[in-house]
Amino acid sequence: MAKNIIVGTGFSGMLAHLILGDGATVFGATNTIEIQGAHRQFLLNKLLGAKANSSTVLKNHLQKMQLHDRLIAGGNGSIWGGFVNASAISDTARALLKSAGIYLIPLRYHQTGSIDSKTQIYQLQLPLGRVLNPADLITQIQEAYLQTIQVLPDGQVLLQWRGLKSPHIQEQACESLVLAVGVVQLIDLLYRSGYLSNGDALELSEYRYQLRPTFKGAKMQENAIVIRVNILRGLLHFFGIQHYPNFFSWCDRLIPFALDQIFWNEKVSRSFFVDEGALSTSVGKQDVISQFGDSVHYCNLRINGLDANQFLKNISPSIIGLGMAFVDQKTPGPISNDILSDALKKIANEE
Ligand SMILES: Cc1cc2nc3c(=O)[nH]c(=O)nc-3n(C[C@H](O)[C@H](O)[C@H](O)COP(=O)(O)OP(=O)(O)OC[C@H]3O[C@@H](n4cnc5c(N)ncnc54)[C@H](O)[C@@H]3O)c2cc1C
Repeated sequence: MAKNIIVGTGFSGMLAHLILGDGATVFGATNTIEIQGAHRQFLLNKLLGAKANSSTVLKNHLQKMQLHDRLIAGGNGSIWGGFVNASAISDTARALLKSAGIYLIPLRYHQTGSIDSKTQIYQLQLPLGRVLNPADLITQIQEAYLQTIQVLPDGQVLLQWRGLKSPHIQEQACESLVLAVGVVQLIDLLYRSGYLSNGDALELSEYRYQLRPTFKGAKMQENAIVIRVNILRGLLHFFGIQHYPNFFSWCDRLIPFALDQIFWNEKVSRSFFVDEGALSTSVGKQDVISQFGDSVHYCNLRINGLDANQFLKNISPSIIGLGMAFVDQKTPGPISNDILSDALKKIANEE
């Protein structure tokens, strides 16, 4: 029996791995997973980026609401911006990142191809200016897709999982489980495991988000956190290319255009439901008027009014969750700093 298991190899899974060290086995789905009959309706891939897979039992009947699922080593961290609000991370968090070889690089056009409105956003980088891919820092990954969880009478947690090349279900019990599987997989896992059923109500929130073309020298919006990205850097990111070749950096100096990622200081929430084997915004229960999810930083999952942390605790105190579902983002902009503080609080007992 394994003592501690972490499921997920994105930013959250990586943090759990850095804090727990070799005392925990890391399970993670990679992009080679194929599960018969599963849906891929939450899949998010970029044209030229690392191609992930997706696998959910629940269908996607959401209207004007975008949620995504990326099964791949590194999770969203294989295509993300690596941005973090450095003013919101503690000395312990800085020490953890430093000991793992992760650099905090301030946003500057010549270094990261970007700037920000409050000069507090940094980029998490690995050596040679590479944007952090969390999978690069996890020493060993057991390639596995977690199918269900179940609490045994003696308090252990039983994982049912399948290897990526075999359709056969395997079982593994553990004393403690860190679930770091992303929002959509968390919801689907709870449904697959029988903890969610038709009619259950869910809710997520996010800071209102806009992407706007602009000029490098234009005044930035107030009452918002703005990350302004050189046009070529922005296009590379849009297509999923993580590195920023010197040639593009040189060209960008000559081009006055940029893209603003605007995170307004205005939080919005969206309710949705488990409805006949699908996630649905269920027209009739509410009017869906505005788009939700474009920020890709949606967080603070509530299930039938209950905070997702408490929901897991009610299933078993031996299970903790990390990631966007489990944090209530404090300020607009990057959410990685909230995930980092939450991981240290839950696993290393940092106040
Ligand atoms: C395009 C994009 C850009 C972003 N940029 C930023 C940014 O710059 N700054 C920021 O703060 N936030 C950013 N975000 C938000 C970002 O997703 C979070 O900050 C963070 O990466 C979330 O990490 P996570 O590990 O919790 O989840 P994920 O990255 O979703 O990782 C989940 C992991 O769990 C694995 N997994 C899932 N289900 C299973 C299963 N059933 N069995 C086994 N393994 C499973 C997946 O394979 C994956 O490895 C961005 C998001 C996107 C989509």
